[in-house]
Amino acid sequence: MKYALLDRGDRLSRALSEEFHSLAKAKGFQVDDQSPEIVVSIGGDGTLLQAFHRFEDQLEQVSFIGIHTGHLGFYADWKKDELSELLHLMATSEPRKVQYPLLHVEITSREGKSKYLALNEFTLKSVDSTLVSAVHINDEPFEMFRGDGIVISTPTGSTGYNKSLGGAVIHPSLEALQIAEIASINNRIYRTLGSSVILPKHHHCDIVPNLDDELFIGIDHQVLQMSGVTSITCKVADCKITFARHRPFPFWNRVREAFIGSV
Ligand code: NAP
Ligand code: MN
Repeated sequence: MKYALLDRGDRLSRALSEEFHSLAKAKGFQVDDQSPEIVVSIGGDGTLLQAFHRFEDQLEQVSFIGIHTGHLGFYADWKKDELSELLHLMATSEPRKVQYPLLHVEITSREGKSKYLALNEFTLKSVDSTLVSAVHINDEPFEMFRGDGIVISTPTGSTGYNKSLGGAVIHPSLEALQIAEIASINNRIYRTLGSSVILPKHHHCDIVPNLDDELFIGIDHQVLQMSGVTSITCKVADCKITFARHRPFPFWNRVREAFIGSV
């Protein structure tokens, strides 16, 4: 089996990746950074976001496995002392392949169109002023947003930034996107719904900012600065990310362990 490995770069993650390589070599696995079947991420959820973007053009061939070296992760669900168990299972059994929805983001600006995939979310903020944007759902005007920003997340991203904004946690078997507000200003002119909104796969939303505004556009952990943006379309992507699950770890158990602890 061909695999690629990314680690967070800290001492523990590096040591674990050395250990992973030597255990994998003993099982006859080969490192292939160009066209791997398995992408292993050692670090945190942020490391898996980086791994996802490195291989986002190969999602049909690649399955991801995350090992965490900090606290429990949402994407990284193997612990640092479980490497030999994981490698044993990788060598001897077929994993269950679990697929999670992604977000498709298309930005139209004076320069043309650009497309992005997000595993967690798309974030829109204004660089030096309050963000003012019209929000359309399915080509109908929905609301006029004024405030700090808008976050549009995937189901697995719903436990990230979205959750800090009071958004709902969505099970990743639901193909949906969620629009959450960051500190909206509400008055007679600018009125937003106030609660987060969840759209199904066959819906889309468009955000129309002020053309002259300098914007921060966040795709997961990466932030771009853009101006001259005429519209941003978000919808559930046609492709998905695949995780190789060598043992079950139900989503609600992950949510409980990360946010509630033992009951
Ligand atoms: P970071 O600053 O290390 O991330 C913030 C925290 O979010 C970290 O604890 C990270 O876990 C965790 N996280 C990432 N994806 C998650 C998910 N799907 N569910 C639950 N927790 C998640 O930056 P980063 O590691 O590059 O991650 C970028 C992500 O941070 C963004 O996609 C966004 O979701 C999140 N974020 C949150 C806030 C907020 O809550 N106010 C603000 C900005 C960004 P690890 O420590 O395991 O990496
Ligand atoms: Mn992080």
